[in-house]
Amino acid sequence: MRDLGFVLIGGRLSVDFCNLPSLPASGASNSLSWEELVTFLRAIRIISPERSHELLALTESDPQAAFGLLNRAKRLRDSLRSCFRALAAKDHVSRDWVMPINEVLRVTEGHDELVASGRSWKIEFLAREDSLDWLLAAVARSAAELLTEGETSRIRLCANPACTLFFYDDSRTHRRRWCSMSLCGNRHKVAAFARRHSARRASA
Ligand SMILES: [Zn+2]
Repeated sequence: MRDLGFVLIGGRLSVDFCNLPSLPASGASNSLSWEELVTFLRAIRIISPERSHELLALTESDPQAAFGLLNRAKRLRDSLRSCFRALAAKDHVSRDWVMPINEVLRVTEGHDELVASGRSWKIEFLAREDSLDWLLAAVARSAAELLTEGETSRIRLCANPACTLFFYDDSRTHRRRWCSMSLCGNRHKVAAFARRHSARRASA
C-alpha cells in the first residue's frame, strides 16, 4: 500500500509507525521531521487533509507545541523499535521501553460521547485533556495490543539484513520473510540468482 509517499507494509498501525520514516531496503533512520509525522497521520487517516494543513502550519504558529509532539512521537517510535525487536527475537521486553507507550495511553484518557450527525447519532471519542497527544493515542493502543501477545506475536524483522523494517506476519503460513516482496524479496532472489550463475561459470 503506497499512500502519500509512505509504503505502509507493517500490517499494524504501530508497526508502520515504528518504521517511520523508512522505505523498504533503505534501512531504519533515526530522523523524523514534523512533515513526515503529519503526512503519516494523514496517510493512515488519523487526521483529515484540512487538519494536516493546520498542523503543518503549527511550526510557525506554535512551534513549541509542534516540537513537543514531535519529540514524544520520536520517543514513542524508538521505544516501539526496542519492544518489537525483542518480540521478533522472542526476547524479554524491558519495563523502560514500555513506559513511553503508557505515557501516551495515560494522557489520552477520555470517554465516548454521543454526537449528533445530521438526523442520526454517532459515538465520538473525547479526550479529557485537549492536547496534541491524542494524535498518538491509536498508535500507542495498537502497540499495547501487540505487546500483550508476547511470545506468540508474529512481529518480524525483514530478512534483508540491510533493511531493518518490521512487519506483522498475517500470511496464512506464518512464513513471510520480507517487508516487501517487490523490493527486498526480489533483490534477494536476484542476488541469489547472480551468485548461482557466477558459481556455475567459475566451475565451468
Ligand atoms: Zn526489507
